[in-house]
Amino acid sequence: MRTITLSNGKTVEVECLSCALTSGLIEPDGGIIIESEHFHAHQDVAYPIEGLVILASKRHIKCLDELTEEERNDYINLMTIIRKAQRKVLGIDYVYYFYNEDTTHHFHTWMVPRYEWMKEFGRSVESVRPVLLHARNNRNTVENNQKVMKAIDDLKNALK
Ligand SMILES: [Zn+2]
Repeated sequence: MRTITLSNGKTVEVECLSCALTSGLIEPDGGIIIESEHFHAHQDVAYPIEGLVILASKRHIKCLDELTEEERNDYINLMTIIRKAQRKVLGIDYVYYFYNEDTTHHFHTWMVPRYEWMKEFGRSVESVRPVLLHARNNRNTVENNQKVMKAIDDLKNALK
């Protein structure tokens, strides 16, 4: 079991954070952006970046090659419509996709939008962690968090 501290300060003990989120045990801040039969999309509000979406499988697996054919189709289709919504309602030109199979949670893909302010941290994979940390440490303002919550709503509406 792992103890996870939620953004509201409460702590919960879970075996797997992705299981807790996709099963509804933990409600992500801003709610579910969209869900399908096999996948669940939400914002990780620990990193206040508009349109940063985490797409998690509902089944507790770690690796891409564990997906069934049906799950694979669901995954790529859902990721694509989320990507279209990011472009349409948030004006996001480029997204970085990241997931690691040796995660302590289960299979989840980060969809990290690129914004102008990120350029000072460089490009490509080496910029991802500094960008996330900068967002958490320097952009965690009331004003920015309101923008993040609005972006969640905009995505939800676009994906209805
Ligand atoms: Zn899990």
